[in-house]
Amino acid sequence: LNIEEWMREVIKEDEIDRYLEKGQDFINDERIEELLNANRNPEPTKVREILAKSLSLERLEPEETATLLNVEDEELWEEIFSTAALVKKKVYGDRIVTFAPLYCSNYCVNNCLYCGFRKDNDRQKRRRLTIEEVRKEAEVLVSLGHKRLIMVYGEHPLSDIDYIKSTIEAVYETRVGNGEIRRVNVNAAPMDISRLKVLKEVGIGTFQVFQETYHHETYRKVHPQGIKANYRWRLYALHRAQEAGIDDVAIGALFGLYDWKFEVMGLLYHTIDLEKHFDGVGPHTISFPRLEPAVNTPFIQETRYKVNDRDFKRLVAVLRLSVPYTGLIITAREPAHIRREVLQVGCTQTDASTKIGIGAYSDRYQEQELERQQFMIGDPRSLDEVIREFAELGYLTSFCTAGYRCGRTGRYFMDIAKKGKVHLFCMPNAILTFKEYLMDYASPETRKVGEELISKKLPEIEPQTRAIVEEYLQRIEKGERDLRI
Ligand code: SAM
Ligand code: SF4
Repeated sequence: LNIEEWMREVIKEDEIDRYLEKGQDFINDERIEELLNANRNPEPTKVREILAKSLSLERLEPEETATLLNVEDEELWEEIFSTAALVKKKVYGDRIVTFAPLYCSNYCVNNCLYCGFRKDNDRQKRRRLTIEEVRKEAEVLVSLGHKRLIMVYGEHPLSDIDYIKSTIEAVYETRVGNGEIRRVNVNAAPMDISRLKVLKEVGIGTFQVFQETYHHETYRKVHPQGIKANYRWRLYALHRAQEAGIDDVAIGALFGLYDWKFEVMGLLYHTIDLEKHFDGVGPHTISFPRLEPAVNTPFIQETRYKVNDRDFKRLVAVLRLSVPYTGLIITAREPAHIRREVLQVGCTQTDASTKIGIGAYSDRYQEQELERQQFMIGDPRSLDEVIREFAELGYLTSFCTAGYRCGRTGRYFMDIAKKGKVHLFCMPNAILTFKEYLMDYASPETRKVGEELISKKLPEIEPQTRAIVEEYLQRIEKGERDLRI
């Protein structure tokens, strides 16, 4: 296996060039700094006008987002939080989608300074799951009640497109009792269009690539070599995914590499450029992982851009207001109390029962081994515990995957979301998949809280749809599965 040769073949310059304007990409570092400087400590009236615009579910312009980011007054921040909560409720209702990550391989050719999987980390034990092992992992996740996975891969010829394809197929084939994985999302290195078409054919939901940092100079510093050193190959990864027909794409930034306000602006510009090229279709979700400690990775202690909890909540709220139609993902990297807080100001998806060691779901011994992990998990609670807590807070956990299987993706989804109508479909389907979970997997305590929540939520559905949902609920009790609106 000649890794150097393989690496040379990955990047297709012409698939970058077509998106550049006058040789430039859409992130103009000076312009972002300028906007952030020009809108310092804004007038409350200006801030309130922007909040009103968000409430009408319009995407904000960069200047408006820069204004919100620069608010200093604590009371005004409270208004921002409560408006973000309203926007979330308007678009998504009291619903939270859950998934689990499945790490398949930690071989990597890159040397991202912040990542435990980086090539030069000799304390990292390398492993690539065999297809049989992937099946075993999927069986465990299905038997916990999961319906959605995000599959994660390092960048390496050992986890090339053929491997990725086979692992996804293995997951879709897995059945345990009534259970199956109905949506596989993918977090993998940027690919060319021909490879992305393979992902489309195998039936993935979302393709997710985080830019890590939008700040060019920082990007160069933290990605000293390897394929990932090419900022633009990564920046346009999701434009290529759209071209390949994958119309649910997911962006993200790794917070802690550079100034958090700059990164929020970067995420907004990324959204705007996707909308511009793809008929108004922006990202399906936005992620904002914070740097977590990883074995033998000193960079994480050294960075001066660590985001504190207060600013973290602020950045989530500003993203919620800036791009009202997009899902926001909070992961188990964060501890339970932070997850609770940001759920209120805008997050719509989260993972649970998460293990990020390679093979850690099915292999109890490896579960303990930190050295197979990319970083440390902040919230190790089981899916059942997390669901119970959400239910007690009034949030209904959704395992719904109907959107993608009924063609409610891309443009179609965006139109529904922008009109604030996601909940028309999503709440009924959330209730139905939640009911399945309660029947098939929940502990008696969770079932009790869950059934109470369903009774509370049913009256919120408009009468015509409610009649169908009630009928479906009875059919689920009698053993039918996968019923959806
Ligand atoms: N190798 C592919 C890539 O880099 O895009 C995909 C897998 S990578 C393991 C997935 C994501 O993990 C990265 O995009 C990065 O944002 C995140 N990550 C890396 N190191 C991290 C750390 N120390 N703490 C939190 N997240 C981290
Ligand atoms: Fe490899 Fe991705 Fe980790 Fe970078 S972030 S070292 S590309 S696995």
